[in-house]
Amino acid sequence: MTQVSNPVLSGDFRIPFNRIRAEHVEPGIIQALQEAQADIDRLTSDATEPTWDNTVGYLEFIGGRLSEQIAPPTHLVSVSETPELREAYNTVLPEISAFWSSLPLNGSLWERVKAYAESEEAAQLSGVKKRHVQKTVQDFIRAGANLDKEGKKELMALKIELAQLEQRFSEHVLDATAEYELIITDEARLSGVPEAMRKRAGAKAKEQGIAGWLLTLDYPSVEPILKYCDDRKLRREIHTAFVTRCRDGAFDNRPLLARILRLRDRIAELLGYDGFPNYVLEDRMAKTGAQAMSFERDLVKRTHPFWVRDVDELRTAAAQLGIEELSPWDSAYVAEKLRKERYDIDDEILRPYFPLSQVLDGMFEIVRMTFGFSVTELDIEEVWHPDVRYYEIFDESGEKVGAFYTDWFPRKEKRQGAWMNHFITGGPQTKGFAPHLGVICGNFTPPDGNEEALLTHREVETIFHEFGHLLHHCTSRVEIASRAGINVAWDWVELPSQLMENWTWEKEALYLFARHHKTGDALPEQLYERMIAARRFMGGWSQMRQLSLGTVDLELHEELAPQLRTSAANYSEEEVDLVQGDLVMEFGRERFESFVIGPHFAELHILPVFTHLFSGGYAAAYYSYLWSEVLDADVFTRFRQEGIFNRETGQSYVNSILSRGDSAEPGTLFKEFMGRDPDPAALLDRNLGPEPA
Ligand SMILES: [Zn+2]
Repeated sequence: MTQVSNPVLSGDFRIPFNRIRAEHVEPGIIQALQEAQADIDRLTSDATEPTWDNTVGYLEFIGGRLSEQIAPPTHLVSVSETPELREAYNTVLPEISAFWSSLPLNGSLWERVKAYAESEEAAQLSGVKKRHVQKTVQDFIRAGANLDKEGKKELMALKIELAQLEQRFSEHVLDATAEYELIITDEARLSGVPEAMRKRAGAKAKEQGIAGWLLTLDYPSVEPILKYCDDRKLRREIHTAFVTRCRDGAFDNRPLLARILRLRDRIAELLGYDGFPNYVLEDRMAKTGAQAMSFERDLVKRTHPFWVRDVDELRTAAAQLGIEELSPWDSAYVAEKLRKERYDIDDEILRPYFPLSQVLDGMFEIVRMTFGFSVTELDIEEVWHPDVRYYEIFDESGEKVGAFYTDWFPRKEKRQGAWMNHFITGGPQTKGFAPHLGVICGNFTPPDGNEEALLTHREVETIFHEFGHLLHHCTSRVEIASRAGINVAWDWVELPSQLMENWTWEKEALYLFARHHKTGDALPEQLYERMIAARRFMGGWSQMRQLSLGTVDLELHEELAPQLRTSAANYSEEEVDLVQGDLVMEFGRERFESFVIGPHFAELHILPVFTHLFSGGYAAAYYSYLWSEVLDADVFTRFRQEGIFNRETGQSYVNSILSRGDSAEPGTLFKEFMGRDPDPAALLDRNLGPEPA
């Protein structure tokens, strides 16, 4: 009886978050996994002809149900982590991963899926079902289903080793960051640094019983020094410490660089791909490493004149500040001085105009006018914290298409940053339309006493961004959950989210909600003008930085990694990582050189601490940041031309992109809405403006 009443397995649309306790997690998930395994066994031992319903459709059902059972506990770990909850979750985590990775290596499952894919029935499929069968087969093959026993064994070993190395890489970065401390005893050295930062540094010193200010290498502490500190020597010291982490000593990441690159290259080869980028990008919009590279090269060429202009401006401004040769520890500082002089705008000036509730109301109004979805708040008790709000989304016919939670403020036990997640994927079903369920979370500056929470413009953008992901999920009309909503290619998934950010820069949209929280006055015109003017400041400089990272990422995996594998035989086991670690460092230095203004900038490159590439999911995929910006800027041009609240344009977007998930190739969906392929012109205009004379 206890298992039946386990709230983890309630299956209710209104998930009983208020009743899920740490003690429910392990038994609940174990039961869910056993049920899923029993169903997989039933599927594979079925002796009848494979059909959609007993094979691919069944597999989809099993995976979908399990994902929905695991999602609530996973979410709770990210928003209200207690030691008990974390422990219960960690106990079952290996079993969850083991279940998912066992599927593609399950020979009889693969045989049956393949038999169905080759059947008469499958040949008759069309639309999303046809695509789903193709994608399922592709996923099996990509995960090693076609390898022989030896191959599967090697692949498994490579993946385990790679995961461990990536984990160690990021631990090294964390440890090297935590290890560093610099005590400042003379406050004059902190001249220029904002008060809030000084206070934090003072408090950190006090905590350790030291007089003075304690500087550390976590980014919120480094950034204000590099941007504002007038003491050039101190900037140099902090910058150097920051960028030379993990280059030697106990947390040296150089040997890991080489080993990680070699393993990835071998995985791609084992699975039959020409290089790691081709393997990673096969099921992305870019498709091949070559295409991602030509995207980078084209943008580099077009960004170059703007970069040259920005460099000139920085050098001139530096000279005026008495800095003769611009160094890596000067650029942020000089840029900040120049920005202040030109635009005199900062986060705090805008904050009073963006109270959270007004921002949300304005955003819901924009979505209603443009896309035809209305949002209503509902007071419910099944939440995990009193801050949590619950809303329902209806389309114009009054049908409830989805619901979502919001959770906006930081708590000690809550994960950092902002994110969207989904719990239930509904959509058109035999019994009618089933609503979707999702959540959006943030860590915004909390309200002060009785006051409302006031946001920066960047935070306003973040809310629009996450709500864009949520709409992608909640408005999906795809009948197969794994092809629905946000289950799309990585270089496509940020289009609906980033697109929403565009409205926060449009006057008509902003003026729907940007009013002073006390006086009710609209955002002053000249503040808006300054905000817009400052948007492109140093655009060439920062875009070139992004392009350098994206290019070197592809070059490392495409060019260097195979060379490392071939030449590895020339060294002894002990030598190889050490020697090749230096080769990777040198390769990085040489390749970054063409993107920077002096040898210092190239020498102090980011590779040994570049967790996106060496422990995150952005290996051979760093290009996707700019790629998806190209898409959203381009799509927004149609709204610009036809009216940013144009209901018809909005509906066309909903029909061709927002509600379509992964039911077709992203490129096809894009073309359906825009009538042509993506064009980077709109992004270049948004980030850089008219070409410098
Ligand atoms: Zn996003």
